[in-house]
Amino acid sequence: MGKILIVCAPSGTGKSTIISHLMEQGLPLRFSVSCTSRPPRGQEQNGVEYYFITEEEFRSHIAAGDFLEYCEVYAGRFYGTLRSEVDTRLERGENVVLDLDVIGGENIKRIYGDRAMSLYILPPSIAELRRRLEARGTDTPEVINDRIARAEFELSHAKNFDTCVVNDDLATAKAEAFVKVRNFLEGHRPKRTVIFGGSFNPLHNAHLELAREVVREGLAEDVWLMVSPQNPLKDTPTLLDEQKRLELCQRAVAEDEGRIHVCNLEFNLPRPSYTWNTLQELRRRHPERDFSLLVGADSAQNFLRWYRASDILATTPLIVYPRSGYTIPDELDTMATRGIKRLQAPLRDISSTDLRRMVREGKSIRGLVPDAICNDVETAYSNVL
Ligand code: ADP
Ligand code: 5GP
Repeated sequence: MGKILIVCAPSGTGKSTIISHLMEQGLPLRFSVSCTSRPPRGQEQNGVEYYFITEEEFRSHIAAGDFLEYCEVYAGRFYGTLRSEVDTRLERGENVVLDLDVIGGENIKRIYGDRAMSLYILPPSIAELRRRLEARGTDTPEVINDRIARAEFELSHAKNFDTCVVNDDLATAKAEAFVKVRNFLEGHRPKRTVIFGGSFNPLHNAHLELAREVVREGLAEDVWLMVSPQNPLKDTPTLLDEQKRLELCQRAVAEDEGRIHVCNLEFNLPRPSYTWNTLQELRRRHPERDFSLLVGADSAQNFLRWYRASDILATTPLIVYPRSGYTIPDELDTMATRGIKRLQAPLRDISSTDLRRMVREGKSIRGLVPDAICNDVETAYSNVL
């Protein structure tokens, strides 16, 4: 039995470009040619991009039960997937790729379950989408307006998809889509990895509990603690040397091998480190993974001040854990194309600032930091202000 790749995106995002790339690269995929009642555009040929049929012909296919799914994507413009394009090929062991609107995509995913992977291609912004549609030069201004009006609706469904690729730089998007689809055809799903960034000055048990909770809750296969480096522009006397913080984190997670990993990627990126740049670099280096971001409600409350906050929200799922006295602004939910999940973790009253003060005052911090590093944390921070 073959497999199904469902590709969705607002019109103009680059879906056709990316699907063509996957096929040109030799991935074993057959394109399912849909029926449409819209006229051909540019160089499109009947039987290649679509079967171009009249509205009456479309309705008679509906009446005959020929469609697996169909949809009036734009007023008076019908699109539908013929059963014959999919089922006969699957039975022959061929893999099929479908270019669908989000409703069609969700319906097909519901029918085929794990045999299908739904891939959402995200545009960097609506403004860029308009620019691409205009540059493509195949649609009238009215049609472009219809497509832009539909884009917000399409984007609101992105969070329901198995995996996403951001089509900002085309070469990067093609490479990421290629790895994700190749892996799927070989039987591997994208690994869901949560990025938990911080200075971890020092790492404490509440940090570790949160990371473990993410995996326990099934929100990801693993969590990467992204240790932020020293900021050379800031004088931060309370910050322990970055290599030392990294090493303490690594020893602390030794027992969590496979589910918590410590990462020093930001040490080698331009400083100051911005989460947006880190996420971009992670996507480039690890196309086989899907990254989400874990932040506290305190960060969520101030999130819109982060560098390229709206781009992060447009491309990256957020997981927020509670912090007393902080709330998540409503607009974040609206802006988060890939959704915001609330982690139902208990509030733990430990903070790195309190731990440093306790060490300074000669109080024991045992039980508050992982046992494996407790003595070393006490020694290291007794010399830090
Ligand atoms: P869709 O199939 O999603 O409607 P297309 O694949 O036709 O979109 O792409 C829309 C237009 O944008 C095309 O002219 C394409 O060459 C261009 N395009 C695609 N990806 C990018 C990108 N990353 N940057 C700039 N232009 C792009
Ligand atoms: P376009 O006119 O740009 O070729 O396609 C418009 C929208 O219709 C795109 O989002 C495309 O993915 C979607 N589409 C194409 N074929 C089908 C189909 O068979 N069924 C559904 N539901 N949507 C389709």
